Amino acid sequence: MFISNVVKENEPQLVRRIYDKAKEYDNVVDLTLGDPDIPTPEIVKDAAAKALSENKTKYTANAGIPELRRAISEDVFKRTGLTYTSDEIAVTAGAMGALYLSTASILDPGDEMIILEPHWPNYTNMVKMCGAIPRYVNCLGDEDLSHSIIEKITPGKTRAIIINSPSNPTGIILSFDKLKEIADIAKKYDLWVITDEVYRTIVFDGMCRSILEIPDMKERTILVDSLSKRFSMTGFRVGFVCAPKEIATAVAALEENVNSCVCMFAQYASVTALQNSASLESEICNTFKRRCTAMTAELKKSKNLAVRDAMATFYLFIDITKTGLTSEEFAYRLLDEKHIAVVPGNAFNKAGEGYIRIACTLSEEKLVESAKEIVDFADNKN
Ligand code: PLP
Repeated sequence: MFISNVVKENEPQLVRRIYDKAKEYDNVVDLTLGDPDIPTPEIVKDAAAKALSENKTKYTANAGIPELRRAISEDVFKRTGLTYTSDEIAVTAGAMGALYLSTASILDPGDEMIILEPHWPNYTNMVKMCGAIPRYVNCLGDEDLSHSIIEKITPGKTRAIIINSPSNPTGIILSFDKLKEIADIAKKYDLWVITDEVYRTIVFDGMCRSILEIPDMKERTILVDSLSKRFSMTGFRVGFVCAPKEIATAVAALEENVNSCVCMFAQYASVTALQNSASLESEICNTFKRRCTAMTAELKKSKNLAVRDAMATFYLFIDITKTGLTSEEFAYRLLDEKHIAVVPGNAFNKAGEGYIRIACTLSEEKLVESAKEIVDFADNKN
């Protein structure tokens, strides 16, 4: 039977492979997926239950219920000082829906998009699902980022650059100077910027600015965000796009053919989450800060692991080159010998080779226990 090229080119995710492999072991400590054990806040679950009991179980507008778009507008205003009207906002099935539908809104087959690597691997597949071509720029090294980006621009073909700050997998926050450089390039070469800010409220050290804060960027920026990580609502599947009207309208129009709309009672629960964002987010952020700090302190005891202080997100991206193992060797042997599952860095493209990613998604106690085992493995493996 015929199978499309889109399917053939869809690269299997190494993150999922190791996650599936981990399921074959008993008593495994799974630090692979970015899906924390923190329960969804009670107030949000109550709002979902209330919406259900009020029969909020129907289709909604493709772009989402007006109440949620208003709450999103207020949320983004608090962060950026920019006003988005409801026709500049589309609610989507998580940030994944937002990313794919906005990518499909700006890329034709043969077009190119620049991705800073190491990166969340879904970006590659989303670009390929549009028949377009990903171009990668390594942003781990100290080299001149602007120069590296410009080198990858193909006139008439490059349509966009995607940035993710704070980053999955590195936890790195792009400085405002770097954002300004990227903004200058976008203006000069007439590119869209997709800014994936799903981890923006999980910041421990310093401030995470948005490229939207730079003058004249609103008209060429597609902001992607979601409630998944901010409020521990991964299963609600609520995300959004804030963008110029033509893009928000396109995203909503494409949504009609994919999901029609996001689950109605999840949208109502999301209004409650956003209206209580200050307290809910700070609690979640503090939990991750405690976990990442404790895990980092333990891992730093290793002579073979190079560990940076965590700045943001709940991921630790650890340099394992001194162990002499490749990322995959390290991850698979750690799983086999210690029953601890982490993601090999090459799952996030070539720039991630020599690293592993640990998701601090379990209790502080379990993390510290596993950190001791990881250090033992890294320092005593033979
Ligand atoms: N963007 C990044 C960088 C992510 O790490 C993830 C999930 O891990 C997503 C987007 C997708 O988030 P959502 O659950 O809102 O679809």
